[in-house]
Amino acid sequence: MGGRVYGGGSLKASLTIPLHLRSSFRGVEARGLVKRYGEREALKGVDFAAGPGELVGVIGPNGAGKTTLLSILAGTLRPDAGSVDSPNGDVGWVPQQAALYRRLTVEENLLLFARLEKLEEPRGAVEEMLELTGLGGRRGEVVARLSGGNQQRVNIAIGLLARPAVLLLDEPSVGLDPRQRARLWGFVAALAGRGTSVVFSTHDIREAERYGRRLLVLADGESLFDGTPEALLDAVRGEAPDAADGDFETAFVAFLQHRGH
Ligand code: ATP
Repeated sequence: MGGRVYGGGSLKASLTIPLHLRSSFRGVEARGLVKRYGEREALKGVDFAAGPGELVGVIGPNGAGKTTLLSILAGTLRPDAGSVDSPNGDVGWVPQQAALYRRLTVEENLLLFARLEKLEEPRGAVEEMLELTGLGGRRGEVVARLSGGNQQRVNIAIGLLARPAVLLLDEPSVGLDPRQRARLWGFVAALAGRGTSVVFSTHDIREAERYGRRLLVLADGESLFDGTPEALLDAVRGEAPDAADGDFETAFVAFLQHRGH
């Protein structure tokens, strides 16, 4: 595990359990995350953990802090306070905006990233990802000429190249057609089934309910709920009984409203 503690004098950060006491934990864990952009607090002390094999959806309104949280867990953004523990260098990150080399082919992009990540068998890993994401038939196509959905598939393939212990996906299904969505969730669930910790964000509440075994609800930088979709419905029943009989999305919106969002 690699531990990163940020900010000075944070009570939560100083309470982090020493890493040597939980070296068997292979997931990702964050405590007391605070992130400020000027006056705005994008995260206001968020705790989060995803263990091996967990498939966790992060949901919440625009500007809730979902991308900020995932970027901090990925190690690409520094929080102002809090701590993050994750397996050293073993976190795959699929950002919303793919950083692909547009003039290179699908295969050349994958090979380049496999070499950048210093994989032992870059060609083998590339073949595996082409197969897994169904991109084999497009391997020779220049990325700039691919549809947005297919570029997203290359983006996801790159995040998966190193077969990371933790996989973080920011709105992975945006732009994918229904068949590709089904394929995406199929292989993401299979990865979790093999022990990978998977965390994804989405605005598709039905997708979150269907695929997230656990859901984290963020709003205005605060964690409002962390539990199973069923437990979220129970919470709605308690707080906004009229909405609990509707579909999951209606119940979710009522939950947010009841909490002032
Ligand atoms: P969305 O669902 O719209 O993608 P989100 O839940 O992913 O939103 P974030 O992108 O994490 O939310 O943003 C959280 C807050 O931080 C927002 O108020 C946003 O405007 C602000 N923010 C994010 N990045 C920056 C930045 N680079 N500079 C200034 N403010 C930022």
